[in-house]
Amino acid sequence: MPEIVILSGKGGTGKTSLTAAFAHLAKNKVLCDLDVDAPDLHLILKPENLETGEFFSGNEAIINQNLCTGCGICRDMCRYGAVSVTNGVFGINPIKCEGCKVCVHFCPAGAVDFPQRHCGQWRVSETRFGAMVHAQLFPGSENSGKLVTLLKRKSKELAKAKGRELIICDGAPGIGCPVISSLSGANLAVAVTEPTPSGRHDLLRVMDLCRHFRLPMGVIVNKWDINGEETALVEDLCAARGVRILGRLPHDPAVTGAMVQGLAVTEFDPAGFGRLVKDVFNEVMDLAGVKQSV
Ligand code: SF4
Ligand code: SF4
Repeated sequence: MPEIVILSGKGGTGKTSLTAAFAHLAKNKVLCDLDVDAPDLHLILKPENLETGEFFSGNEAIINQNLCTGCGICRDMCRYGAVSVTNGVFGINPIKCEGCKVCVHFCPAGAVDFPQRHCGQWRVSETRFGAMVHAQLFPGSENSGKLVTLLKRKSKELAKAKGRELIICDGAPGIGCPVISSLSGANLAVAVTEPTPSGRHDLLRVMDLCRHFRLPMGVIVNKWDINGEETALVEDLCAARGVRILGRLPHDPAVTGAMVQGLAVTEFDPAGFGRLVKDVFNEVMDLAGVKQSV
């Protein structure tokens, strides 16, 4: 089943606005928000939650006050400064604790518990554009790559159960662990970039990542008209790497207008900017080998 992941080397390029528009345009699909550290697709899609699950990953140390003798060994051994003492009572800061288990091992009283860490929640929801799988990591929680992998598995299961033919994923910005996880098993990466030196620099990193994983990719240049020279450089870069340009989109206030109203831009302005997005969508479907056009 084709799985398209929409990426941007950096935040703020318009990735989620375009994902929401593609979610509006695509038929017979499952949507998936893989930006688990800072999800925002739900702000436009307004999902109605059908199923929620807890996400546990790694462990955290917690001192059992009934057993602690206050010897201070855990504080001396902790390399992360996670153990503190207040009025003679030892405690562990969960934000600082890296779950290395040293204190558990060295506590002479066996007073340090080491439960699984509750890091976030995943959800399966219904939206006006169809089923959606999404999640939220709690502040300071790690292992977003593992949560992304879980969401991708849920999306595939849901698509199979509902007989869907396509999965559209909103990826995380950057090229870190959650992005690498989101590319695993995908069929096409679509990078949304903007014509600035930092946009081009970060696009290059996404290109390197996709090349490393031998994943086909295409590029959308958003707000191309704010800097024609930089747009030309982006297009030169794509030509040199053999990467297909899927479209150029101009800067347009309709994107902000849609955002303010919580709509996809193709709903907000179907005949204007939305028409341009439809052309880009058709290019994306063509490159993904999906027989859909609008
Ligand atoms: S090492 Fe164990 S007994 Fe000593 S202060 Fe830490 S938790 Fe308490
Ligand atoms: S598990 Fe490691 S990081 Fe956490 S409090 Fe114990 S020694 Fe410190």
